[in-house]
Amino acid sequence: MPGKGSRTRSRAHRRTAARPPAKAKAGAPTAARRSARASVRPAPERIGEILRLLERRYPEAKCSLDHTDPLELLVATILSAQCTDARVNIVTKDLFRKYRSAQDYAAANPAEFEMEIRSTGFFRNKTKSVIGMAQGVVERFGGVVPDTMEELTSLPGVGRKTANVVLGNAFGKDEGIVVDTHVARIARLLGLTRQTDPVKIEQDLMRVVPKRRWTLFPHLLIHHGRAVCVARKPRCEVCAVAHLCPASRI
Ligand code: SF4
Repeated sequence: MPGKGSRTRSRAHRRTAARPPAKAKAGAPTAARRSARASVRPAPERIGEILRLLERRYPEAKCSLDHTDPLELLVATILSAQCTDARVNIVTKDLFRKYRSAQDYAAANPAEFEMEIRSTGFFRNKTKSVIGMAQGVVERFGGVVPDTMEELTSLPGVGRKTANVVLGNAFGKDEGIVVDTHVARIARLLGLTRQTDPVKIEQDLMRVVPKRRWTLFPHLLIHHGRAVCVARKPRCEVCAVAHLCPASRI
């Protein structure tokens, strides 16, 4: 005859056996996925292959703001804040015909300029930045856009990101890495940084990305972010670097 202990064990067993298995949450990592992620190598060991594969996948990757000289790129970059490059290119097509030098922008009528760039958004602040930047270029640099980080960031409306765009794409100088929303998001997914602050993300990236690729690297991530690693639903199943990505869903 079974004792009290065995009746207790038997009730406990029935309770356990009757409970349905816990459902895996949609998108939750499986054991296989967790183990694949755990085996991803440190960033410095992966970056060479990531660059090689992204360069092969996006051979056309380059600055998508239309420009023919440093001044045009500086103006276009200021206008590109919170605006698509395609919209900026539409606006600058006419703008660059009318304003051909830093002196032209410096002498612009603010109300008129506001209307000319209105469709890029934040047009009042952008007007102040472009005219202020141009006045600084005329007064302190003889009308010629300077080619150092220190001088560029001394101009009104020009931060480190804008200066990086101009130095890398107009002067061919790899001084830093442009960090926009695509770059920040994908760099974190790829395990190249854990930071959220753009300045700290740039510092992490500068430690792992070879200097001669500092200008190209953000273009590669931006193309990847538009074509494959889209924000709402990354297409890991067609991603060229899925095997190197700790966040891969495959
Ligand atoms: S594997 Fe997925 S999350 Fe990682 S970079 Fe590719 S698309 Fe983005």
